[in-house]
Amino acid sequence: MLQDLDYGRLENEFRNIYPADEDIVVCFRGNTALVHRNGDNELQLPTYKDVLAWAAVNNWESWNENKTQYVFRLQDVNYFIWWGEGGESGDPSYAYESTMTLRQVISKNIAFGIMTAWHLFDWYRSNRFCGRCGAKTVHDGKERMMRCPECNNMIFPKIAPSVIVGVTHGDRLLLSKYANRNYTRYGMIAGFTEIGETVEETVQREVMEEVGLKVKNIRYYKTQPWGVTGGLLLGYYCDLDGDDETVTLDQNELAMAEFYPRNALPAHDDGISLTREMVRVFEEGREPTGEASV
Ligand SMILES: [Zn+2]
Repeated sequence: MLQDLDYGRLENEFRNIYPADEDIVVCFRGNTALVHRNGDNELQLPTYKDVLAWAAVNNWESWNENKTQYVFRLQDVNYFIWWGEGGESGDPSYAYESTMTLRQVISKNIAFGIMTAWHLFDWYRSNRFCGRCGAKTVHDGKERMMRCPECNNMIFPKIAPSVIVGVTHGDRLLLSKYANRNYTRYGMIAGFTEIGETVEETVQREVMEEVGLKVKNIRYYKTQPWGVTGGLLLGYYCDLDGDDETVTLDQNELAMAEFYPRNALPAHDDGISLTREMVRVFEEGREPTGEASV
């Protein structure tokens, strides 16, 4: 999966530091990031030195006088985000590319870094002002938190849990396709956890809402941070409760949903997404069988 880095792990402990010249600065504009893509489809990100020079010449906007914010460390390099909407680089080898398509590049480490930086960037930019009293917020120096100096509101990073569900019926797995989306490949039932419900209840509710099926024997598989949607995906398998496979499709959400035999699944692991890994694990008959937890 995307977060399974071939070089250590993303070190995301909070540090209150300023960038050095060669540190990376991820610059976002809308939901695009400024990247250099070489002939081998490898990505490079600009350094602090580059970005400062571009920002000075092209009058980049910044929401904060410090201009950059430390986010994490990856492959022994500190990553910062630009505190504002990125401007023009003036370097024709750099271009803004969609964060949705960047995950399909070869350099998985950097793609994961950009996606995670995006999650933090989106949180920072959405909390420049206090949602309670409207005052300008300030950075806390000890942990990743924005604080309101007027009413002491403490704002911590927001992560939305959501489920990916592999509904099985004996030797068959339910695959689906979204309706009305750019993403047209096979997926599985998915949805965000609502306030006040357990994740197991999310699994049951989403399957019922999207395909009208009752499920049992819900068992946990793995999680995946998914910064593009500000989420944390929780993968679960479960069994169809009963033998009736009749799908009642929520046509606002899905274009199709159908059970496929283990030896003829039309989707395969892409090394990126939890959904795809779960399809492969089922294909290989290695999915957790578990005791009934619900
Ligand atoms: Zn406030």
